[in-house]
Amino acid sequence: MENDKSESAREIINGLEYHWLKPWEEIEKRKVILTGANEPIIKLLAESPLPTEYGDWTYLVFGDYTSGEIHEVIVYGDMEKGSLGNGEDVILRVHSACKSSELFHAINCECREELEKAMDLIKKKGRGIVIYLMQEGGGAGLKAKVDVYHELFEWKNNKIKLAIDPETGESFSIFKLYQKLGYKQDSRSLAVAVAILKSLGIKSVKLLTNNPKKVQDLVDGGIKTEPLGLHIKPANEMVARILKAKAEDRGHSINKKHIRVENKNGRKKK
Ligand SMILES: [Zn+2]
Repeated sequence: MENDKSESAREIINGLEYHWLKPWEEIEKRKVILTGANEPIIKLLAESPLPTEYGDWTYLVFGDYTSGEIHEVIVYGDMEKGSLGNGEDVILRVHSACKSSELFHAINCECREELEKAMDLIKKKGRGIVIYLMQEGGGAGLKAKVDVYHELFEWKNNKIKLAIDPETGESFSIFKLYQKLGYKQDSRSLAVAVAILKSLGIKSVKLLTNNPKKVQDLVDGGIKTEPLGLHIKPANEMVARILKAKAEDRGHSINKKHIRVENKNGRKKK
């Protein structure tokens, strides 16, 4: 048993090296080579209880043998007591890692707030799952994200501001920057999430998202999916810019009314 575990650890480490060195397209190819199909190979490596500010969860760690990443899953409640019920209508958030926001509290995107709101909501509803996928930078990777941030921001009088696109006279659209730097736009795959859900016996979900592509990906994977909006009020102009880009460039169902920054007097700024 012990041997088996260290063997998988070694495989994961080799995979991590591979992921760091190779672009996403190579991983997609590797999936096909390894499995003969476009299906990821995952394995539950470990699990434990996890007490959090948002209640008591079960913490699961999955190895992804196709990308070499480790994905984290938290389930609300004690799984041994059947907290996922019959696997129907489970509230789900599939969250892509954004460590600048979640770990360093960067204020230019809404990722940490979305994650926390999802956990809070699941706790209130009584059961649900957060699948946290290591897909930084819309799947393009952490290096790509930081390359994009390099273009997106500039220092002015010792403060960080959004840089202005000379072509439009406005700040850059983050998604267009990925494109401009040669990174594939939103190359995230929910195939791993589908594999994880199936391994947990989940048949249908209510997905906390504004992104229609995520809903479609789960449906395509055979999971009955109903969207459940997750609306964030932007805390500042940087977040408002991202929400606007998501609505305009990616077809997210975000009501324009939600994309207004409230100033200190409670008045709405455009
Ligand atoms: Zn983010």
